[in-house]
This record gives sequence, C-alpha cells and structure tokens, in this order.
Amino acid sequence: MSENATDRLDAVQAEIDKACKIARRKPEEVTLVAVSKTHPARDIVPLLEAGQRVYGENRVQEAQGKWPVLKEQFSETQLHLVGQLQSNKAEDAAQLFDCIHSLDRPSLVKALGKAFDKTGRQVPCFIQVDIGEEEQKGGCAIADLPDLLEQARAADIPVLGLMCVPPFGIESAPYFALMAKIADDHGLQGRSMGMSGDYPTAIMLGATHIRVGTALFGQRD
Ligand SMILES: *Cc1c(COP(=O)(O)O)cnc(C)c1O
Repeated sequence: MSENATDRLDAVQAEIDKACKIARRKPEEVTLVAVSKTHPARDIVPLLEAGQRVYGENRVQEAQGKWPVLKEQFSETQLHLVGQLQSNKAEDAAQLFDCIHSLDRPSLVKALGKAFDKTGRQVPCFIQVDIGEEEQKGGCAIADLPDLLEQARAADIPVLGLMCVPPFGIESAPYFALMAKIADDHGLQGRSMGMSGDYPTAIMLGATHIRVGTALFGQRD
C-alpha cells in the first residue's frame, strides 16, 4: 500500500470505477465513506485536501474530539456513524453526524426520535441487520426488521436502507446478496455494505455506500 494518502484514495477510486464498470453502474451511485476511526486529524487532513468529503467514525466521543474543527475547516464534509450507538448518546450523535448506519433496536428508535425532535435535525439512518445471525454482532434480527422499520417510520426517522457487517473470515458475497434482496423486499434503496476487503464485490451486488478504512488509512493499532 502506498505511503501517500492521495495515492491510496486514487487506488480505491480506481477499484470503485472498475467494479462499477463490470456491474454497469455509475460511480456516482456509490458513496465512499472513509472510515477514519482511531486515526488522528493529521492523517485525515490529506484526504480532505484531496477532496474526499464523506467520513465514518464508530464512537461518538472520539468523533466529538476530532470532527467539529475539521468540519469547520472543510466545508460540505459529511460525517457518518458506522458503529453501535448507545441510547444515551443519541442526542450527541444527532448534533454531530449527518448519517447513522447502526439503527438496530426499538429503544434506539425511541431515543433518536426524541433527539431529532429536540435538536431539529432529522438525520438519515440505515437499519443495521444481523445478516449472519451472529449473537455478538450489532444489528436487528432479520425476522425483527419489519417491526423495527414500522417503528422508525412512525417516529419520523428517515430510513435510507439497510446496513450489514457479514461474518468475519468467510466469503461475504452471499450475505451482500441476501441483504440486497431483503432491502428490495422492503422497497429500500440504500445498501451500506462492503469494507476494505470486499468493497468491489459489494458494489457488484448493489452497494450504495461502502465503508472503507484500512485501504485508505493503513492498519489500525
Ligand atoms: C471499521 C469499520 C469499517 C472499516 O473497516 P476496514 O476493514 O478497515 O475497511 C467498516 N464498517 C464498520 C462498521 C467498521 O466498524
């Protein structure tokens, strides 16, 4: 992997273009969320300077420490929350984030509904589904999705689509295909799927948002 952040961004963009070409999709249909968790502002600035405007963080507190200043410096920057959200942090998340990928339970629907009313911000959300039926992972059970979706809509939460993190270490394509089908079944357009190891596959299977960390920033400690 290149030492230079701009080169790494170019390489990821080239992979995105290649996958889109094979899938006969337009690269504009795929949003690259650069996952900057654990990386300090000085590692993020070169990507901001290269024009990358959408970033992902997995902890509210860490994001609060890094992003208010960067968002002010680089206009039009969008911050996405890709990690689990505790209900007591819903209001902080509503203030700082422009998209939430981890809506996964009724208590969080309630907390976010309240937070959006209070802050006046309706942050678009993805519902995270536990696509591999793994207990320890976040995400709502596939069987619970219809109810959760209905509750989110009743609470006026804008639902863009579904998000998943497939089981680690095995081929993710079947899980991406399954999530795309479930999204289709519910008339949802957004598909947040694919990370550094599998984003070209995710794009070929219909991802609208890919969440890429390591391929852009290098290994995390
Ligand atoms: C860290 C993280 C990513 C990025 O993973 P990489 O393998 O570093 O690209 C994507 N999605 C979620 C939910 C994450 O927590």
